[in-house]
Amino acid sequence: MPKFEVGQAFADSMDENDSLAGYRDQFLIPRKSSGEPAIYFLGNSLGLQPRTARERLEEVMLEWERWGVEAFSTGEKPWTQYSETLSERMAPIMGAKPSEVILMNSLSVNMHLMFISFYRPIKQRYKVLIEEKTFPSDQYALKSQMRFHGIDPEDALIELKTRPDETSIRTEDIETIIERKGDTIALIWLGGINYYSGQAFEMGRITKAGHRKGCVVGYDLAHAAGNIPLKLHDWQVDFAVWCTYKYLNGGPAGPGGCFVHENHGSLTDIPRFEGWWGNRLETRFLMQPDFDPTPGAGGWQISCASPLTLAPLEASLAFFEEVGMTKLRAKSELMTGYLEFLINQTKSDRFTIITPRDPNQRGCQISIRTHYEGKGLYEQLKEAGVYCDWREPDVIRVAPVPFYNTFNEVYQFAKIMEKD
Ligand SMILES: *Cc1c(COP(=O)(O)O)cnc(C)c1O
Repeated sequence: MPKFEVGQAFADSMDENDSLAGYRDQFLIPRKSSGEPAIYFLGNSLGLQPRTARERLEEVMLEWERWGVEAFSTGEKPWTQYSETLSERMAPIMGAKPSEVILMNSLSVNMHLMFISFYRPIKQRYKVLIEEKTFPSDQYALKSQMRFHGIDPEDALIELKTRPDETSIRTEDIETIIERKGDTIALIWLGGINYYSGQAFEMGRITKAGHRKGCVVGYDLAHAAGNIPLKLHDWQVDFAVWCTYKYLNGGPAGPGGCFVHENHGSLTDIPRFEGWWGNRLETRFLMQPDFDPTPGAGGWQISCASPLTLAPLEASLAFFEEVGMTKLRAKSELMTGYLEFLINQTKSDRFTIITPRDPNQRGCQISIRTHYEGKGLYEQLKEAGVYCDWREPDVIRVAPVPFYNTFNEVYQFAKIMEKD
């Protein structure tokens, strides 16, 4: 980390020396009423539109116009293979093999499909370990799955908590609980990065600890995909899901992502909910009554994949392919470190950061806990043209994104925070 400095000259020099600065122009940035670009720090909620997304979408519309249903099997990019083609680009972002990755449905739906296969409670082992403040959809999905199995969520959910007066969950505490209660835990289900606090869990270590006790380990990577480097294959993660409309800029309610480790991808005794699109391509259109699964994550597909939702994502994934997660992350760490430095520099008693200080335990998001009049501060930011969000009861989330945010925007944000 460089030594950060308070003046604007530092932000200017960081922007001048930023090798990714050119990508900002590749994205459409919302504007303030004055016409100037807003400070968009909400890539953790909806990533911005790549300029090339519209072109790619129009190509699909043209293919439809020109070929009708034949477009599924015609042209350079037949729609039948569209999702699998994007697995090639998605895989390096997730640290996975292409066959371990599939884009389909949406996140919460994929969560249910994965739980059907990987949450398989038995009498002595039926509990699920989650983190405190899990995203609501994760809670609902898990609790409804438990009831579906005739299990009482009150009894079966184990919540990881922070120690009193601490704001993130210590990895050693997670390991201790797994060691103590692991024999009764069927599934460990954590957000790779918690949406509220911004804490990134040490997925490799936690997965290892879980496997030592015979637990299945999966992650909701909504806030991790495209944000931090991942090694799902090497970490031996059993399965994972994510969305593509946050850091991956795939467009509102774009396709969900799903990872199934190759250890499981070819097993035939895993229960799953089947559909024709999961059938091997070679025999899919023979319309046979018995399911012949695609090996790997693709075998979990149910419905035909929509080229209309894959097209904008393809445009964005091309940037990820060009830049790679290592370079993207290097800029991201700098921007977030700078943001943290400037916020702490204000020495305000109105707020404190709850996201871990250690860059290895966070992505680009910083969560700021307000101590009084927090909503007022949030309104003040909004009025000044900052896109950030408010999470009840008292947190403002901001996420400078390396593809389209600048060090100057971080500087301007801190200036607004400084005002009393
Ligand atoms: C954004 C988000 C979701 C959203 O789920 P959808 O099914 O895409 O609406 C789910 N889980 C987490 C942790 C999220 O951050």
